Amino acid sequence: MNLILLGAPGAGKGTQAKFIAEKYGIPQISTGDMLREAVAKGTELGKIAKEFMSQGKLVPDEIVVGIVKERLKQKDCENGFILDGFPRTIAQAEALDEIMKEMGKKIDAVININVPEEEVVRRIVNRRICRKCGAIYHLLYDPPKKEGICDKCGGELYQRDDDRESVVRERFRVYRRDTEPLIEYYKKKGNLLNVDGSKNIEDVKEKILIMLEEIKA
Ligand code: AMP
Repeated sequence: MNLILLGAPGAGKGTQAKFIAEKYGIPQISTGDMLREAVAKGTELGKIAKEFMSQGKLVPDEIVVGIVKERLKQKDCENGFILDGFPRTIAQAEALDEIMKEMGKKIDAVININVPEEEVVRRIVNRRICRKCGAIYHLLYDPPKKEGICDKCGGELYQRDDDRESVVRERFRVYRRDTEPLIEYYKKKGNLLNVDGSKNIEDVKEKILIMLEEIKA
């Protein structure tokens, strides 16, 4: 299955993408993760991306489209993939259509996770991530057993630079302006699935998996 996860920052895309990837044995392609990796490594791409990311702005379309195009050509995407955080603009969605056409593939479903802004802010500013294994925690809803330490691997937990409240508000504004129009874009194409993301993680997961089983059938 070739899938896209849409939703505001903090809607739970990363968390749900991991479940879906595991269940269907397909790779999670997170442009945010790939860009953060480039920033951490200090590559040329990383240096450019950092400027945009630290301010809550989008990295230019050409750059992100280039990364995704290369990634989708890799062997592990042959049986499907789940795009998490891409596309984020109409231009990216159109570029993705073009890539799919070139590869003789299609997007089977676009899952849109809806969550109100205030809930999103509450989630993001309390989000902590493991430096080592990438596990995601929430200080209020899903805290680690030991403060600052990952339950799964013992790695150090950190807060993403762009998870501070002022940056989160900016990311939300950018989401409204640039990404929200994609909901209409995919609705018109007829493959949009809406999920209420304000429920707890397990409920959202179950809803999504039921919808995907229906598509597969
Ligand atoms: P995320 O982890 O998906 O919330 O992404 C974190 C940041 O990476 C975003 O705020 C953007 O600065 C950048 N980014 C991730 N995906 C994209 C994309 N598809 N287009 C442009 N910028 C992106």
